[in-house]
Amino acid sequence: MDTVILKGKDVSSRIKDNLAVQISNLKLKGIIPCLAAIIVGKNPASKLYVNSKAKTFKNMNCNSEIFTLDSDIDEKDLLLIIEKINNDTKFHGILVQLPLPKHLNEEKILEKIKPEKDVDGFHPKNQGYLMQGNPSFIPCTPYGCLKILEYYNIDTNGKNIVVIGRSNIVGKPIASLLSQNTKYGNGTVTLCHSRTNNLSDFTKKADIIVAAVGIPNLIKKDMIKDGAHIIDVGINRIDDTSKDKGYRVVGDVDFDNVLDKVSSITPVPGGVGVMTVTMLLSNTVKAAFNQIK
Ligand code: NDP
Repeated sequence: MDTVILKGKDVSSRIKDNLAVQISNLKLKGIIPCLAAIIVGKNPASKLYVNSKAKTFKNMNCNSEIFTLDSDIDEKDLLLIIEKINNDTKFHGILVQLPLPKHLNEEKILEKIKPEKDVDGFHPKNQGYLMQGNPSFIPCTPYGCLKILEYYNIDTNGKNIVVIGRSNIVGKPIASLLSQNTKYGNGTVTLCHSRTNNLSDFTKKADIIVAAVGIPNLIKKDMIKDGAHIIDVGINRIDDTSKDKGYRVVGDVDFDNVLDKVSSITPVPGGVGVMTVTMLLSNTVKAAFNQIK
């Protein structure tokens, strides 16, 4: 089978071309989209993600400011910092990099972000709008998945779609988006999770599989049907002594072995991951426009 590799970079560069025009228009009005990224503690992966977001913003002539806070910060102090950024017109978007240290109440922190500046789309108000089919800020990874389907014109209408993983930031919003009455929705969506009995009974029937679990190579060749489309959201590190770093990054799907069986698939890396940062930029540009209306 001629499998199409769904390259996030190609999708992302088309979106960025579009955003560049919007960013120039904002500049003519004296506005430079600006993101406040809050990072609590010294989690190296979080630091890496936030730095890569800042780099993308810089490359697109947008601003970002990283607030690095001590891992033992009091919850009330963090809430006060968010409040201050909420009220600072310089910032159009705010994100709090997850995960947070255990002593901080994630829900309370995310709820503190002004919905108008919630460019990660994690605020309950924005999640509610999305559930109602009237999204404001769509969470960046699910949004990126949608854009990949759109770019490669993968028909979701009436298709049997299996989403694996039900987190609030990935699995649930993807399932919701794909089941809505929209061009790249209208799927018949089944949401699977760790309590699903016989996962392969579901995946074998799927025209489209979205895997957002965090288990390397969970989805094997014998679990999918011929010609399925695969969106692999998982990012997992596995030991690999042949690499200088001692590890490599793989998805939730056994890419090498499923390749000759599927119609299309996102690689890891190079698939959904690239899109997440691009959609963050897109949401921040949208927030900047909204704030001048
Ligand atoms: P979570 O850990 O929050 O959620 C994982 C989900 O997978 C849960 O719903 C869990 O079920 C389910 N699950 C666990 N084990 C199994 C199993 N054996 N069979 C079926 N379902 C299972 O992770 P996230 O949603 O935050 O992230 C998922 C993956 O996506 C991770 O690898 C993460 O690194 C990656 N990711 C990638 C991004 C990108 O930019 N590409 C962005 C964000 C995340 P239950 O609810 O029952 O526990």
